[in-house]
Order: sequence, then structure tokens, then C-alpha cells
Amino acid sequence: APGLYLIATPIGAARDITLRALDILGAADVLAAEDTRSLRKLMDIHGIPLGDRPLVSYHDHNADRARPRIMAALEAGKSVVYASEAGTPMVSDPGYDLARAVVEGGHGLISAPGPSAAVTALTLSGLPADRFFFAGFLPQGGSKRKSALGQYAAMPGTLIFYESPKRVAAMLKDAAEVLGAERQAAMCRELTKKFEEVRRGTLAELAEEMAGRTVKGEIVVLVGQGDSEKISEVDLDRALTDALAGHSVRDA
Ligand code: SAM
Repeated sequence: APGLYLIATPIGAARDITLRALDILGAADVLAAEDTRSLRKLMDIHGIPLGDRPLVSYHDHNADRARPRIMAALEAGKSVVYASEAGTPMVSDPGYDLARAVVEGGHGLISAPGPSAAVTALTLSGLPADRFFFAGFLPQGGSKRKSALGQYAAMPGTLIFYESPKRVAAMLKDAAEVLGAERQAAMCRELTKKFEEVRRGTLAELAEEMAGRTVKGEIVVLVGQGDSEKISEVDLDRALTDALAGHSVRDA
């Protein structure tokens, strides 16, 4: 059937692709990918020939040029598959603008769900998974990172961050400072790959441990909800309003 098919691809282990995603890859009229080489490699591994079907590159830097081509295919009644380099499209990855255009154009939007590092890490973290907030990548450092962390401090659920191996030690140090040293946390590295590693502990413990290490690979950091978050946001708003009101009365 015509439409845009968003397919999730493995985050490490090539066999972590669904049978349905493989069917869709085999049948689509047009293929589009953030990284055409990694999609070809994945198709080779699973024995899916590209044949003479077009394989379009679609990423952040060429989206405005590539989107009309994909939209034209949809308008011609074709089926188009879109894959990220790894994991689920649109999760800290390109694809949002495309999905938006497809919805606005009244075309079909179909998902073939599968791996995402965020949910994979959540299940391994040992932290509550019934409520969580995916924060993606933080600003790369300094006061911007701290103030971004501050925004999440009162979130009533587990926080999930993507982080680079270069910055993870500094990020954990900031997180311990801003979110609280005693909060439970986890550092998940190279998930589903040969050197998979999950470290669990308080933010202070993980910050100290990572400060003494040089690591490589792909990383997800998770932080459990803090005690102070038992105060709901509404309570917090009221408390702040009251405090400010009291202040202005005294000032007057
Ligand atoms: N769309 C992807 C998804 O659904 O997870 C995420 C893409 S984002 C550009 C890449 C980041 O995801 C990495 O920097 C890392 O934080 C995280 N990531 C991806 N694969 C991972 C893995 N195997 N183990 C740990 N983190 C991973």
C-alpha cells in the first residue's frame, strides 16, 4: 500500500530487526535512509536485494532538497520506506519534518516499530520504567548543560539522556550537582553489542567512577526520580506564587 513506512533498525545486533521491517524493505517502491550505506549493509546481511529501486539519502543537511522527491513518490501512489542509521527514526534522529509533511499531505504514515536505545537502556537500568522522560542530547557543556539539567530536576519519572563518551564524565558530574548526588542512576554503553556494559549506582558514584575512565562507544545515561519530586508541579507553582506574593507585600 502507498505511504511512508518508518522502520526501526538495529542499534547494534544486526538480527534485531523485525520480520515485518524486512518485508517492508523488500517490497517498498522507494527506499530512503539517513545513511544509505548502512541500510544497504543491513539489507545485504538479510539477503534483501535493492534491485533497480531508488535509494534516496535523507538527513538533516539535505532534507529540504530530498523531501520533495519523497513527496513526489507518495503523490504518485508509491510506497516509501525510511530508516535511520540506527534505532527508531525521529528519536534524536531525522524524520520529523518528513513525517509532518506526509501527515499534512494526507498520505499514509506507517510504523514498523523496533529497537531504540532509550527504551533498551530503560529496561536494563534497574530504574522505574512506568513513567519516564526522554531528554535526548543535553547541550554540550558549561552553564547551558546545567540549566537544561535544572529543567528536568522535578520531573516525576526516570530521566533518559543520550551522551557521547567524551562528555559522559563531565555530564555525570553536573548531573550529581544539579539533580542530587544521591539519586539512583545508570550508565548504559554499547547496548546489544560485544562490549555492552551497564553500571548502576548513585549519580555521585557513577560520576566518580567515570571521572577515572576513558570510554568509547555509544552511551545512554538514566537518572531515577528524586525524593523532592513528591511535590507536584502544581504545588511547586503555588509555593512559588505564594512566596513571590509574600515578597512583594513585604517590599511594598
Ligand atoms: N534513533 C536512535 C534510537 O532510536 O535510539 C538514536 C540515534 S542518536 C543519533 C545516537 C545516540 O543514541 C548515541 O549517541 C547514544 O547516546 C544512543 N545509542 C544508540 N545506539 C546505542 C547503543 N547500542 N548503546 C547505547 N546507546 C546507544
